[in-house]
Amino acid sequence: MSLHTNYPEIREAVVKLCSQYPGEYWRGLDDTSTYPTEFVQALTDAGFLSVLIPEEYGGAGLPIEAGCVILEEIHRSGSNAGACHAQMYTMGTLLRHGNDEQKSKYLPGIADGSLRLQAFGVTEPTSGTDTTRIRTKAVRDGDDYIINGQKVFISRTEHSDLMILLVRTTPREECKKPSDGMSVFIVDMRDAVGNGLTINPIKAMINHSTTELFFDNLRVPAANRLGEEGKGFKYILDGMNAERILIASECIGDTRFFVERATAYANEREVFGRPIGQNQGIQFPIARNYIELQAAYLMVYHAAGLFDEGKPCGSEANMSKMFASEAAWHAADTCLQTHGGFGFTQEYDIERKFRECRLYQTAPISTNLILSHVGIHELGMPKSF
Ligand SMILES: Cc1cc2nc3c(=O)[nH]c(=O)nc-3n(C[C@H](O)[C@H](O)[C@H](O)COP(=O)(O)OP(=O)(O)OC[C@H]3O[C@@H](n4cnc5c(N)ncnc54)[C@H](O)[C@@H]3O)c2cc1C
Repeated sequence: MSLHTNYPEIREAVVKLCSQYPGEYWRGLDDTSTYPTEFVQALTDAGFLSVLIPEEYGGAGLPIEAGCVILEEIHRSGSNAGACHAQMYTMGTLLRHGNDEQKSKYLPGIADGSLRLQAFGVTEPTSGTDTTRIRTKAVRDGDDYIINGQKVFISRTEHSDLMILLVRTTPREECKKPSDGMSVFIVDMRDAVGNGLTINPIKAMINHSTTELFFDNLRVPAANRLGEEGKGFKYILDGMNAERILIASECIGDTRFFVERATAYANEREVFGRPIGQNQGIQFPIARNYIELQAAYLMVYHAAGLFDEGKPCGSEANMSKMFASEAAWHAADTCLQTHGGFGFTQEYDIERKFRECRLYQTAPISTNLILSHVGIHELGMPKSF
C-alpha cells in the first residue's frame, strides 16, 4: 500500500486551501485565543466538512477514508482541524438515530454549512471518564424536557448552532444497567443561551475554544430527543469509532508535519562544519518517527476500511488512535530537540504543534482507557474497575 496517496485530488485541494492559512495566521489566533473563523468558513465553502453526509441530504456521501485524508492533510500542513472536525462526524448520531423529520430539518443545513453542529456534550466535572455517572438530568414536562446540571470541556459551543447533549433521564440507581437511563438531545444553542444555558470559556494550553456549561432549567422540546428515551449511551458509543478514526488521522498529519520539519532542519542546519542530520544522534530518532508514522498509517486506514465496510472496528479504532497519538508525540519531541533553541521560539510553529498534538492522548479518550479496553476485550483479562 502506498502511503498518503489515496484520494490524491482531495489531498491536493486541501493542501492548496491550507497554504492560504500559514503559520502566522495560527500564531496570531493562538496569541489572542481566537477562533479560526475564516479557515473554518473556507473548509465549509469547499465542502470538506460535509463529505460524510449522504448525498440525499446535500453532502458528498463519501466513505470515512475521505474524511481521514482531509484531516490528515490539514494537520500535515501545520493547520489545526480541532476547530471544526466535529462538524464532520457529530452529525453521525443524528443520521443514525434521528427520525426522518429531524434529519430533514437539520442535515441539509449542516451539509451546506448554514447550521453548525460542532458541539458534543458528554464530559462532566464529577464523573470524568466514568460516563454512566453523569448527573446532568432532563425531566419530562409536557412537550418539553427541563435540563439541569453542568458539563466541562465542551468544545466550540460558542461557535455552534446545535449541540448533541447526553443527559440522564432515569437515575442510575433505578436502572438495570448503569448504561441505561441516559438520553440524547439536539440543543439549539441559539435559543438556549441566556434561557437556561450559560457558557464559560476555559483558558487552556491550546487554542481549542473549550468551555464549561451550566444548565439551569433549560427547556428543550421533546421533539429534539434523538431515538428512544434511555438508550442515549448506546447512540453516543455508536459515533465514537468514527471520531477515534478521524482524530487518529489528524495525529498522522501531525506526525508527518514533525518528521518533515525535523528532516528539513537536520539537513539545513550546520554546526561543527556539517549538517546536524549527519549525526546519528539526530538522524536516528527522526528515522524512528518515520517508521512509527508508517505503522500508524496502516493501522488507521485499516480501521477506516473496516468502518467503511460496516464491520466491527471498536478495538481497531481505539488502538489506531492510541498508536497514532503516541507517534505524533514522539515525533513532536524529536522535532523540538532537532531544532535546538529555535524549536522553542514561536516563529517555527513547532512549540504550538507540540502543545496541540498532546491533547490526543487525553481526548476524546485517554490512553489508559484504551489499554483497559484492549486488556479486557481483546485479551480477556479481568476488568479493574
Ligand atoms: C481541550 C479539550 C477538549 C475537549 N472537548 C470535549 C468535548 O467537546 N466534549 C466532551 O464531552 N468532552 C471533551 N473533552 C473531555 C475529554 O474527553 C476528557 O478530558 C477525557 O475523556 C478524560 O476525562 P477527564 O478529564 O474527566 O479525566 P478523568 O476521567 O478524571 O481521568 C484522569 C486520568 O485518570 C485516568 N483514569 C481514570 N480512570 C482510570 C482507570 N479506571 N484506570 C486507569 N486510569 C484511569 C485517565 O486515563 C486520565 O489519565 C475535552 C477535553 C479537553 C482537554
